[in-house]
Amino acid sequence: MKPLLTGMLPDELAVYLAMKPEFRAKQVFEWIHKGITSFQEMTNLPQDLRESLKDVPVLSSEISKEAVSEDGTSKITLKLYDGSFIESVLLIDDTDRKTACLSSQAGCAMGCTFCKTATMGLLRNLTAGEIVEQFLHLQAKYGNISNIVFMGMGEPMANLDEVIKSIEILHHPKGQNIGLRKITISTSGITRKIRELANTELPVRLAVSLISADESVREELMPVAGKEPLKQLKESLIYFQRKTKKRITMEYVLMAGINDRKEDAIKLRHFVDDLKVIVNIIPWNPVEDLPYQEPDEKTVNSFITMLEDLSIPVTKRYLKGRSVNGACGQLAVLQNSSDSSDTSRT
Ligand code: SF4
Repeated sequence: MKPLLTGMLPDELAVYLAMKPEFRAKQVFEWIHKGITSFQEMTNLPQDLRESLKDVPVLSSEISKEAVSEDGTSKITLKLYDGSFIESVLLIDDTDRKTACLSSQAGCAMGCTFCKTATMGLLRNLTAGEIVEQFLHLQAKYGNISNIVFMGMGEPMANLDEVIKSIEILHHPKGQNIGLRKITISTSGITRKIRELANTELPVRLAVSLISADESVREELMPVAGKEPLKQLKESLIYFQRKTKKRITMEYVLMAGINDRKEDAIKLRHFVDDLKVIVNIIPWNPVEDLPYQEPDEKTVNSFITMLEDLSIPVTKRYLKGRSVNGACGQLAVLQNSSDSSDTSRT
């Protein structure tokens, strides 16, 4: 596969396209991030340069499907250069702020038992350019995006170098100029990578899919927990927090009868001692063939009250995107199918 232009910073574009003077590469970078997809449209480049580059593709991916939920959440399915499909989601909050939820891998190897993406297995890591292109497609369709969460398909920490490279590109002032504090990387809890991210000193936010603070329940739900016990996870989070001084979000997907008991709340209290966190309660989004139950509203509210009574800062994530299967844990696409149909519940 040829390197993708969307995966390059201006100085890398200058080398790759052998551009002299170098400010031409900055112009190309600016055009790419304005959403221009052909060199012919880059009107401040000399005509002979545009002509010589006219067959060089700017994007490597295309939208093969789009779905918009009644709550305004949109999901796009992208076809990649090799025929793989991935999904990306655009979330709009009550203040009209737009957040891109990006995938870092096609599929995922982590095997979390409550997650639809896990049923695909891992097809491959995405390159930085493929991550950036998800943002460019979403922005071209839905307008200016201010925030990014790496919570789509895949475990971002298992592809951290490409994720960080995509962040450098999306943060570049001549491009999207997305503030690093407006970017969140989520992980199922790969502790070595949490430390590595802390060592980069990038002021991005960290979200951890804790799911349960009971060792045996977590091990049952998340194979990673068998290799990385809670003690090890907590040490890495303390390290991250010492380095970054940032509050960490604990993602807690609430499943009826699994992790919604009083003792679960108490164990969570012990886990977050010595950490500055906010716990994000996400009622489990139903996925066909997975053996879990969505908690009813009473259960969700009562678990939240238990956490509040234990002085744990808590928020509830609204159930956005369900009708397009774009909600948390619902992303999955049939691969190499002619219509790229969604495997999730419709
Ligand atoms: S929850 Fe995240 S890490 Fe776990 S299988 Fe799903 S995509 Fe992978």
